This record gives sequence, C-alpha cells and structure tokens, in this order.
Amino acid sequence: MKKSILERHRGEAHMEKIAHEHKASVYLGIDWGGTYIKAGIVNSNGKILKKIVYSSGSLRERKAFIGEIKRLKETFRKYNIKAVGVGAPGIIDVERGSIYYLPNIPGWENFPLKTILTKELKIPVFIDNDANIFALAEVRRGAGCGKRRAIFLTLGTGLGGAVISDGKILEGRTSASELGHVVIDINGKHCGCGGSGCIETFTGSNHLLERYRQLKKMKTAPKEVKEIFDRAKAKQKEALIVWKEFSAYLGKFLAGMVNIFNPQIIIFGGGVSGAFSLFGPFLWRVLKEQAMWPQLADLKLVKAKLEDAGIIGAALLAKEKLEERK
Ligand SMILES: [Zn+2]
Repeated sequence: MKKSILERHRGEAHMEKIAHEHKASVYLGIDWGGTYIKAGIVNSNGKILKKIVYSSGSLRERKAFIGEIKRLKETFRKYNIKAVGVGAPGIIDVERGSIYYLPNIPGWENFPLKTILTKELKIPVFIDNDANIFALAEVRRGAGCGKRRAIFLTLGTGLGGAVISDGKILEGRTSASELGHVVIDINGKHCGCGGSGCIETFTGSNHLLERYRQLKKMKTAPKEVKEIFDRAKAKQKEALIVWKEFSAYLGKFLAGMVNIFNPQIIIFGGGVSGAFSLFGPFLWRVLKEQAMWPQLADLKLVKAKLEDAGIIGAALLAKEKLEERK
C-alpha cells in the first residue's frame, strides 16, 4: 500500500532530523568509574544521543581502554565529533592532560592519556577528575543549573569534592579541590590519601557501617548504608545517632567550605546522598551554628539530579575547553 502524503512528509522530516543530528557538532563524553565505564555522544545542549556502558574490569588495561575509545569513534563515525572529554577517577594534571595516579586502578601512574588519545583519535581530547566533571554537569544541566558558585560532594566510599567558582571548575595545575582530604581531627584515623583524620574517614560509607555495628554491638556490620537509612526513618535510636554524627562532622566541615567559597548551592551526589532527606535538615542546623551568617544568606542544599552526569559533564568539558581555544 502506498504511504499517505502526510506519512511521507513525516518520514522525510525524520530523515532530515537524523541528517541534521549527524551534521551538528557533538562531543564524546567518557565517564570512567570504578565499576562501569560509560560513554556517550552528547550534543552541544548536553543531551545524550547515544550511550554505551562497559564493565570497568574489561577495560582495566591501558591497551584495551585506548583501543575501545578508538573503536567508539569509528562506531559513531556518522556523527560530527568535535572533541572528546574524559572524567577519570584520580589525580589529574589538567594542564598536560596526564594521570598522576588512580587510587583504585593500578597501572596508570604518570600516564600521558591526552597526548596518546589525541594522536590516536586525531581530534582534541580533554581530561579532568570525575568529581569536577559531575559538578560541571550539575551546574550546566542539573540541580545547580545556572549557578556561578557551587560546591559538589560525592558521598560514597570516599568523599569526592569539586568547587565551581565564577561559573567554572576551580583548578590548579592539577584537578585540585580534593575536599575529602581536609583534616577534621588531628588525632584521627589513617586515610587513603596517606594522611590522617580527613573528613572522608568520618563520612565514607565503610565508616558509617562500622559505626552502626559498634553502637548496636553487632558481630558484623550491615552491608549497605541504605539499611541504616531505612532504620533511621523507622526512628531506631542507633541509626539516628549514626546520621546525626555524620551530619555533625560533615556540617562543621561544610561550614568551613561555606566561609571560604561562599557558594550559592551545595550539591550532594553519590550513593550515600540517597539519605539526603534525612541528613539535610541536620546539616542545616550545624551550618547555622558554625558558618558565618552572611555566607548563608543565599545558600541552598540539594541532591544531585542527573542520571548520567559523568557522560554529560565530560562532553561539556570538551565543548567548553574547545571554545576557550578559539
Ligand atoms: Zn585523606
């Protein structure tokens, strides 16, 4: 049966849209996490057009990782990819685009990733630390949309941090803003960074699970922080103590950050932020007691919003850094 004129027009409009998508400038964003590596083709508005997810284990080796990114560019050759952005889980030399080290992925020490990828892909490549990338996505397209001054925290096993200052990621020669390694107890426990007493050792998920085990005098700790959240919602005493202590440490630390950076918004991401509805009000109480009051006038505390902040942020980093060059 012949297609109606209307259907034909629709079909043509659809083909035109596809042709336009392929011609328009897009960016390849890579979100390099400990469990998954997610890659996506993102348009200049921060919308994901295509997405692929890998298990991080399968791309642990440098050769496999670089080879796969090369294949990705080939797979998406119909698109007009202008640049590639990578959010990496570690300490990055953002000027040179090389990796100092990735705390949880051995074998990448002092690796010039940008130089090698640029040579292989023949388009510009930009690299930054994952927390900085998440923060960029959230202030461009997510919970902090349009904010010029923001602090972003990833609450999980560790405490990732990023500062947005004057609308941009605050950086030194390195990815900087390692907020999780600000000392809050001079007699504190050893920390993964090599120091001791860092805020991360009080807010990390393992600490929360262990603290709950101590308070409940249990043999083994619960497996997930969500259990402590659920029990606190049911008003269980020990679970509430865990979250109040967590908020006391995090709140005192954040008061310092608020006094230094005067953010308009603090955005909480990562697995532990699932309990934001519970600890958010506790945090406010501590902030009001500790921070200098003029700094709190336009402050908001919110939970992160984007599902694929890593892909979007990496792609937007590539776009913005490329535009800065022009
Ligand atoms: Zn530390």
